[in-house]
Amino acid sequence: MTRQLPSESDIPLHGWPPYSAIHRERIRAHAKHEAKGGSAEQTAWNAPIFLAILMEEVGEVARVFNEFALGEISEGEAQQLLYKELIQVGAMTAAWIDATEK
Ligand SMILES: [Mg+2]
Repeated sequence: MTRQLPSESDIPLHGWPPYSAIHRERIRAHAKHEAKGGSAEQTAWNAPIFLAILMEEVGEVARVFNEFALGEISEGEAQQLLYKELIQVGAMTAAWIDATEK
């Protein structure tokens, strides 16, 4: 069975934050990584790369806390970066869940 790719036309189905932002991130990441064959949207459910990418994104969440604790970024920057990285965690998680269902 062919997996349906996330698209702009799906956004009404995910029309409120943070789901809409997670869906947009899936679309953005697919467009960025598809050409090199690295899109999570086209990765098998049991591919180890899913966990590696998800852990990378979780690590980036931790880095935001570290940089804020060390005074390297302001509270506003920390909140903005945390939002972005959590959306990326959500997008990778959603793509992986989707892969397991198809
Ligand atoms: Mg990230």
